[in-house]
Amino acid sequence: PTSDKYDEIDDFINATVTQEDPQQRQAVADADAAGLPHIQVAPNQGKLLQLLIEIMGATRVLELGTLGGYSTSWMAKGLPSNGELVSLEFSPKHAEVARANLERCGVNDRVEIRVGPALETLPKLDEEGGDPFDFVFIDANKDDIVEYVEWAAKLARPGALVVVDNAVSRLVDTEPDTDDPASRAIWKVYEVIANHPSLDATAVQTVGHKGHDGLLFALVTE
Ligand code: SAM
Repeated sequence: PTSDKYDEIDDFINATVTQEDPQQRQAVADADAAGLPHIQVAPNQGKLLQLLIEIMGATRVLELGTLGGYSTSWMAKGLPSNGELVSLEFSPKHAEVARANLERCGVNDRVEIRVGPALETLPKLDEEGGDPFDFVFIDANKDDIVEYVEWAAKLARPGALVVVDNAVSRLVDTEPDTDDPASRAIWKVYEVIANHPSLDATAVQTVGHKGHDGLLFALVTE
């Protein structure tokens, strides 16, 4: 099959079962218009995150990498009205676009965006000692991905699910000893998870609008 076919089938999936809200479509349009990179999850992947949160009955969600709040909007839709989603974003501009988008999506009351490098915000969250997270979605810069997975395991409860986006695309074009720090970190994160005392994981390859990529799923076991 060609990548045209992958696109066509993604279009079909999104026109039938995905059921993206018009406000979510507008969120992507507004993020594009504000000059944000067009690197949000695909609609069917956003819906997967929503469904996983619903299936788990998660009430506390942590996201790394908000961008314009598109994946955030899907996950927030999966939360009950007393649920909470904390999303970490480096760029104040991205956070501002996201806040407007999430307000229009009607989920602002459930979402808190914290601006700054995630490696500075994560220790603060830990110090604050809030309830552990039930679900973590890691979709920020890739060079720090090993630290992000370790933080997710620390801040999440046993039984929580950690989902890592873009877990495959760099494996397609590089080897484990690549000079590119982001790609090297992705190769390494599989080894780290495999040897982690409290993570049990798998990854699946995906095709579609996002090309050849994949998602990694890790259960926090203790
Ligand atoms: N999750 C979003 C979605 O699907 O709609 C897409 C997130 S985008 C792939 C990655 C985001 O991570 C960007 O908005 C970028 O500014 C942010 N980012 C980059 N480095 C970061 C860091 N050190 N800490 C927190 N966020 C970071």
